[in-house]
Amino acid sequence: MSTEAVADIAVIGLAVMGQNLILNMNDHGFVVCAFNRTVSKVDDFLENEAKGTKIVGAHSLAEMAKKLKRPRRVMLLVKAGSAVDDFIEQLLPLLESGDIIIDGGNSEYTDTNRRAESLGKKGILYVGSGVSGGEEGARFGPSLMPGGAEAAWPHLKDIFQSISAKVDGEPCCDWVGLGGSGHFVKMVHNGIEYGDMQLICEAYHLMKDAVGLSHDEMADVFDQWNKTELDSFLVEITAGILRFKDEKGNALVEQIRDTAGQVIAHFLLRQMFRKCMTRLLS
Ligand code: NAP
Repeated sequence: MSTEAVADIAVIGLAVMGQNLILNMNDHGFVVCAFNRTVSKVDDFLENEAKGTKIVGAHSLAEMAKKLKRPRRVMLLVKAGSAVDDFIEQLLPLLESGDIIIDGGNSEYTDTNRRAESLGKKGILYVGSGVSGGEEGARFGPSLMPGGAEAAWPHLKDIFQSISAKVDGEPCCDWVGLGGSGHFVKMVHNGIEYGDMQLICEAYHLMKDAVGLSHDEMADVFDQWNKTELDSFLVEITAGILRFKDEKGNALVEQIRDTAGQVIAHFLLRQMFRKCMTRLLS
C-alpha cells in the first residue's frame, strides 16, 4: 500500500457504523483511510464493500497517520469504553499538535469531558460526536452532534455536514458545544427515542388487550396518527410492523419475544422495518 498523504480523514473501526460512514464519506467525494484492530478486516472491506471506490486502507496506525493530509482527522467508531482510551494512547505518538481525534461512538459524555481536557493539554483537538440513525443513517445520512475542541470544527464542517441527513436542505449537523456536550446531546436524544418507543408499546398494548383491535386495525390507527402532529419515523414504521405477516398470514410481531435489551429492541425494530419495506416495494 502507498504511504502518500492522500486521505482527507481516517476511520478506525470497521463494524456496522464505521463501514457505512466510510462509504457515505466516499460518496460525497472524500478520500477515507480505513483501519481496524483486527487488521484482516481492512483487506476484507477493501476487497468487498469498498471495491471500486477511492477508499484506501492501512495495516498499522503508523501507516494510517502517514496517509493523512494535515491537520490529520481520525475518527473512532469502536466499542465505547476502554477501546477508545487504548486507541487514543496508540495514536498520540503518531499525531502532531493541531491534529484531530473524533470519537463517533456512544461514549459516556463524562469520559468525553475527561478525554477532551487531557488531550487539549497535549495540543490534540478532541471531538466527541453523537451519531444517530444506525446502519441506514450511517450509510445515507446520519444526524451528527459534534462537540469538544471548537478549533476542530472548521476542519470537520464540510465532511460532517455533507454526509449528514438533510431536512428541507438543512444538514442535521451543527456544532454543539464544549467538552462532552455532543455525547450529552446524543444521550438525551436516545432517552427521548426510547421513551417514544415505550409510549408506542403501551398504545399497542391498550389497543390490543383493552380495546381488542386486530393488527390491521391497529396499523390503521398508527397510519392515521402519522398524518397528524404525531407524524414520526417510529409511528410510521410501527404501522408497517403491525401489518407485517409471516408465510402463514399471522402477524409476525406476536412471534417476537417481548423482552429485549435496549440495543436488541432497537435492532429488531430496524430489521422488521427493512423486511416490511422490502415486501412493500417488491
Ligand atoms: P461495535 O460492535 O460497537 O464495535 C466493534 C468495533 O470496535 C470493531 O471495529 C472492533 O474491532 C472494535 N473493538 C471492540 N473492542 C475493542 C478493543 N478492546 N480495542 C480495540 N477495538 C475494539 O461497532 P458498531 O455497532 O459499528 O458501533 C461503533 C460505535 O458506534 C459504538 O460506540 C456504538 O455504540 C456506536 N453506535 C452504534 C450504532 C448502531 O446502530 N450500531 C448507532 C449509533 C452509535 P475488531 O473488529 O478488531 O473486533
